[in-house]
Amino acid sequence: MKTDVTKILNKKEAMIVSSYKLDVTSVQDAPALPDGITITAPADVEVTVKDQNNCMSLSCRVRVDYVAPCDRCLDDVPGTLDFTFEKTVSADAAPAGFEDDPTYDDVVFVSESSLDLDPAIVEEIALRLPIYHLCSEDCPGLCPRCGKNLKEGPCGCSEKKEIDPRLKKLQKLLDNFD
Ligand SMILES: [Zn+2]
Ligand SMILES: [Zn+2]
Repeated sequence: MKTDVTKILNKKEAMIVSSYKLDVTSVQDAPALPDGITITAPADVEVTVKDQNNCMSLSCRVRVDYVAPCDRCLDDVPGTLDFTFEKTVSADAAPAGFEDDPTYDDVVFVSESSLDLDPAIVEEIALRLPIYHLCSEDCPGLCPRCGKNLKEGPCGCSEKKEIDPRLKKLQKLLDNFD
């Protein structure tokens, strides 16, 4: 959603707060979220824009629920991100190529008296999602042979570990030795 900053530009207000729900999956021109991540509900967004001498600052709080597959057993692992990011707001015209220029990473440009923060919000979510997801610290994962989720109990496959083929010859020698 766009945040109208007209009142700050006209010096009628020193601060604007706007809250809305953001459907993260429908934002245009936003980076893709990592594979397997499902956003389960619209994100809660609260944008605060403050007038400062000759510029504006903004702080944006985002709370979003998601589900990710467990790295070991692939079960759904629910998670919540709750974070705040800050940017400087520029009322100047955005220079060409600013999207790819790291100098402007912390700057958002006002366009037609409003700010479109949604692509930046999705980018922040993508950056902040954890890399690892575990349903529990001691998740036993799937059996490498039959694929059963070992959380539900043993699968009956041999307990013996698969022998490294390079060691098989040695194993044979040892067997003959017995
Ligand atoms: Zn698991
Ligand atoms: Zn098994």
